[in-house]
Amino acid sequence: MNEAFTSILLSLQAGVPWRKVKGFQMTDFPNLKTKYPDLIPARMDFECGPGWEKVLDKYFGDVSAALPSGTRLRLDKVYEKYGSLRVDAMPEGAVTRSVHLALDRAEVLADLRSYRYCETCGKPGSLRDKSWLSVDCEAHANGAPPLPPHDGRITLDGVAYEYDEGLDDLVPIKRRAKRPTGTKR
Ligand SMILES: [Zn+2]
Repeated sequence: MNEAFTSILLSLQAGVPWRKVKGFQMTDFPNLKTKYPDLIPARMDFECGPGWEKVLDKYFGDVSAALPSGTRLRLDKVYEKYGSLRVDAMPEGAVTRSVHLALDRAEVLADLRSYRYCETCGKPGSLRDKSWLSVDCEAHANGAPPLPPHDGRITLDGVAYEYDEGLDDLVPIKRRAKRPTGTKR
């Protein structure tokens, strides 16, 4: 995975040549492990903060809805990168293309949702530049102002989507009618 993430990263990094690396946050999510014992290995360490429990809950809910019964998930890594939540996972064994796409979609949604919640406490947050990129609420921001929100646009299987906050889902981007040439806005 995946072009979508690459484009997100590029947009975030534009004009930002260098960043400090922050220390890893490791979290055990016992509630999630109890709720999704078939999806999360018991010894899994999550390399992100505890504030993203709800985002991960939605992710595993999406995945369990997408996986055919009897198909297991290979969950390799869950981690924070450039401020947002990343998941490396794939189905074990052969599955249809639509199942692969549904898992990709769940990963993208987890990433986009994570921009909205403080990684530390889970309250509404924004991406901020604290020498490293981080999603924080006001209380955990250490005074770092919010960055402009990510536009939430990604491409999956050749279709351009954007994240709709109200629907909490990806919706296809409608092509805008071309503006007549020579007119000014
Ligand atoms: Zn917070």
